[in-house]
Amino acid sequence: MILDGKQLSQELKDEMRQEVDALAQKYGRRPCLMVVIVGNNPASQSYVRGKIKATEYVGFEGSLVSLPEDVTEDALIAEIERLNQNELVDGILVQLPLPKHISEDRVIASISPEKDVDGFHATNVARLWLNQPCIVPCTPKGVIVMLDRAGIEITGKNAVVVGRSNIVGKPVAKLLLDRNATVTIAHSRTKNLKEVCRQADILVAAVGRPQMLTADYIKPGAAVIDVGINRLEDGRLVGDVDFEGAKAIAGAITPVPGGVGPMTITMLMRNTIECFLRRMNNN
Ligand code: NDP
Repeated sequence: MILDGKQLSQELKDEMRQEVDALAQKYGRRPCLMVVIVGNNPASQSYVRGKIKATEYVGFEGSLVSLPEDVTEDALIAEIERLNQNELVDGILVQLPLPKHISEDRVIASISPEKDVDGFHATNVARLWLNQPCIVPCTPKGVIVMLDRAGIEITGKNAVVVGRSNIVGKPVAKLLLDRNATVTIAHSRTKNLKEVCRQADILVAAVGRPQMLTADYIKPGAAVIDVGINRLEDGRLVGDVDFEGAKAIAGAITPVPGGVGPMTITMLMRNTIECFLRRMNNN
């Protein structure tokens, strides 16, 4: 089974589009997402374009705040502070990476946790690990939704997550744990990675190494979720899994592109709706 993230994203966005119309009727305004970008990094520009397009598609308010490459950290934080204070703004996303002279930690910390649609603020991270209501990071959330929508059982399964970053590996492991998987987190110092991966009923690859996980890392019938996005020298995009080899052995597998990538943006839309609803219902 190929887990088509593009198609699922489209379905979810169509559902949200209707939901947003209903929210606008009920609350008298639409959810509002503000996307902040600094500088001209082509990859960031392209990600941001995708986010703005999705925002328009589902019917949110919102816009892009574009700041020059040489903007000071204080000026960027002042801009975020303005968005924090703006009652009509529900979600704030600062596109990463930021230029080297700006501390990403300080910038993320300046976003109001209630508007932190990426779920990167320390308050949301802590709440996730404490099982308190929080904003769940988009990519990990997308992984779980893909498994659920494909009808793949998580409870009691052996899940192996390769990668331990704050934005993917660790939160996806926590979400799998919350769903009662037995979770192993592997990383660059893991011994016998191949054997570890071969124990996985659910294998999540978030490594950033093109096609590293070949068919011999995969247990027959496993669900393989490939978070990796790597650009080869010839310009092709590939995942961390060798898709062609792995698909013959996996029970279910996500392609790259068209797998987890589109789900990330769609979960950003979902998080914005959640922020909107929390704010409307608290006021
Ligand atoms: P990081 O570089 O932050 O983390 C990579 C992880 O992989 C680290 O924990 C590292 O281990 C581990 N690792 C590196 N080499 C090996 C190895 N040889 N064997 C085992 N583990 C290894 O990456 P991210 O988590 O930010 O991203 C991972 C991938 O996912 C990238 O390709 C990125 O582009 C993609 N991505 C895709 C998204 C999407 O929307 N689909 C969103 C975010 C990321 P250690 O900690 O020991 O160094």
